[in-house]
Amino acid sequence: MPAALPIDAVLPEIVGAVRDRGVAVLVAPPGAGKTTRVPGALLDAGAVTGEIVVLQPRRLAARLAAARVATERGGARGGELGGEVGYEVRFDRRIGPATRIRFVTEGVLTRRLLGDPELRGVGCVIIDEFHERHLDGDLALALVARLRARRRELALLVMSATLDAEPVAAFLAGPLGAPAGAPIVRSEGRTFALAIEHAEQPDDRPIGRQVAAAVRRIAQDGLDGDVLVFLPGAAEIRRCQDDLAEVAAIFDLAVLPLYGDLPADEQDRAVRPARQRKLILATNVAETSVTIDGVVCVIDSGLARIARHSPWSGLPSLQIEPVSRASCTQRAGRAGRTRPGRVIRLYTRHDHDTRRAFEVPEIARADLAEAALELHGAGLAGLGALAWFEPPPAPAADAAEELLVRLGAVASGAITPLGRRLLRFPVHPRLGRIIAEAEARGVAEPACAIAALLGARELRLERRGPRGEARVASPSDLIDDLDALYAARQHGLRPDRLRRDGLDPYTAGAVDRVARQLARAARDDRPAPAGDDAVDRELQLAILTGFPDRVGKRRAPRSAEIVFAGGGSGALAPGSAVIDAELVVAVDVADTGARGQASKVQIRRASAIEASWLLDLYLDRIAERDELVWNAGRQRVERVAQLTYDGLVIDEQRDVDGARRAGAAAAAVLAREAIAAGIEQFVDPDALAQWRARVALVARLVPDTGL
Ligand code: ADP
Ligand code: MG
Repeated sequence: MPAALPIDAVLPEIVGAVRDRGVAVLVAPPGAGKTTRVPGALLDAGAVTGEIVVLQPRRLAARLAAARVATERGGARGGELGGEVGYEVRFDRRIGPATRIRFVTEGVLTRRLLGDPELRGVGCVIIDEFHERHLDGDLALALVARLRARRRELALLVMSATLDAEPVAAFLAGPLGAPAGAPIVRSEGRTFALAIEHAEQPDDRPIGRQVAAAVRRIAQDGLDGDVLVFLPGAAEIRRCQDDLAEVAAIFDLAVLPLYGDLPADEQDRAVRPARQRKLILATNVAETSVTIDGVVCVIDSGLARIARHSPWSGLPSLQIEPVSRASCTQRAGRAGRTRPGRVIRLYTRHDHDTRRAFEVPEIARADLAEAALELHGAGLAGLGALAWFEPPPAPAADAAEELLVRLGAVASGAITPLGRRLLRFPVHPRLGRIIAEAEARGVAEPACAIAALLGARELRLERRGPRGEARVASPSDLIDDLDALYAARQHGLRPDRLRRDGLDPYTAGAVDRVARQLARAARDDRPAPAGDDAVDRELQLAILTGFPDRVGKRRAPRSAEIVFAGGGSGALAPGSAVIDAELVVAVDVADTGARGQASKVQIRRASAIEASWLLDLYLDRIAERDELVWNAGRQRVERVAQLTYDGLVIDEQRDVDGARRAGAAAAAVLAREAIAAGIEQFVDPDALAQWRARVALVARLVPDTGL
């Protein structure tokens, strides 16, 4: 019999609400038992017909929760994953014919809704951890609520640790619901007193050193449980592991990392009870998603890698930022679940008190292109066609729709066949577009690797050679990275070799995995072009199709200055290998703040293109200009024929013969220039002065002349 949990007391109330009303909101603190107990209770009570789908904001949480529930329910029903309980996350699933409780990440559900808008076979959707307010969670909530208008028997339960429940309850009630909104069930759970210490003053030592000092202090005061350390991201955790080796050895602590990309058995090791005291180094997955028993002390860096989007490319980027006060409170609470706990914050009280109260929901700050495409795919007319819990800001929504049109994924307000193809790839539409183009050109496999490279963090530890030397010129930083990845595959991505070659082993591994997974979804039935150069050309062309709005031209040969089509300029970073090309697409720039603003940006990675490709692909954006102009340097009239792409001159021809043939029109230009230059340029100044004096005299003496 599984141990009693606080949530057990309210399970009948939840079952009743779901059965009678079809919608409910459940608020209970982390560790109360929401994730692990509620789905099973609904199933056992027969409150829903069909499968129960539980949405998790993180892959790690989906897998761990599924494993936990499978074991807890175990017994005759089989405790194996993929039996009664399974999970499905991007690129990984354990689901069987008997699966009744399916833990999924939020994105998996929205994508499933595309192919199966009625969610056949699903009797209940549980949106867990809704307080995280990921874009995909908001999207899932809106889509399922909408579906409920047609399928009243589809139950919808929203669960959260810290949510302000009333607005969600009101939203769930919907136009047909009761005025009181959806029922709200609360379980207060039990929390113990916390002794919270703040840093006396800001500490600028590396985080690892600060953590080591804190651990030493705790251990010397006497530690009788596990320590949970909150760090911003995987990279910081790996660095911190090194810094902690010594103190861990002295006090006999097992240092255990816990983050999303870690192999499953290592994740399990951090969560499982152990004989040795544990020092768990976690990202914010341990904030509310994953509960680890036995924690009596929390060390909080106060930082997280927050999902942002490059305003330039729209591609996701993770940036280290201070977490909100709400997150600080959640993190601290992890120390007081089973008895009074201790919390060491590596930031000052003032720092804490001046932080924002809550995180800004992703929908208010995210790139919306992927969500917009999914909605079009589901037959809705884009972002504006959905009733949101909180609608996205209009400028971001407009930018997303505009980009989809530009990528050819949407036309006249509806998804195109090309747009449908992009939906097969669970990546930003820009990257999907590159792969789709590459499929048609027989270079799908390397294009998938390029998409993975673009979507990942920087592969190179340093955008220069391993010894600081400038890199060999290349037409594309991406193809350069691709070559590095292929070379790394040759030696099986050995970390020491990677590091020696100036590559980040962790990123290389992640890119390699995503590249292979994308390649599995891509069509590879076209013959590849013959020769490496031909392949590279097709790849560069495909890259252009993902970034048609990011075309630029060098201001002068080999200058780092790039002028963009549509306005603005930037400078290629010294580490970019694109040294010769005149026309480029800028695919990766240092963040500049404002969305789409290209006032002066640093371009980290670029890829060469040719003017003829723009003509072939985007004739509708090409303008022709044919003018007679004065060439001041050569003091003559010339005919200039220009081709522009969004206002950027991509081709220009000047000739004097054309001007000669133009006759009178050329003479007019010449006359205009002559007048502007001043008549003194053409006649003897003394003679002119005398002539003027004579004319003035005649005008005075003989006014009738009208001079
Ligand atoms: P909630 O979703 O309300 O935050 P959970 O259902 O995740 O809570 O966890 C309830 C309790 O179950 C936790 O307090 C913990 O004791 C236990 N638990 C959950 N997951 C695991 C796991 N993977 N291993 C061991 N214990 C677990
Ligand atoms: Mg939970």
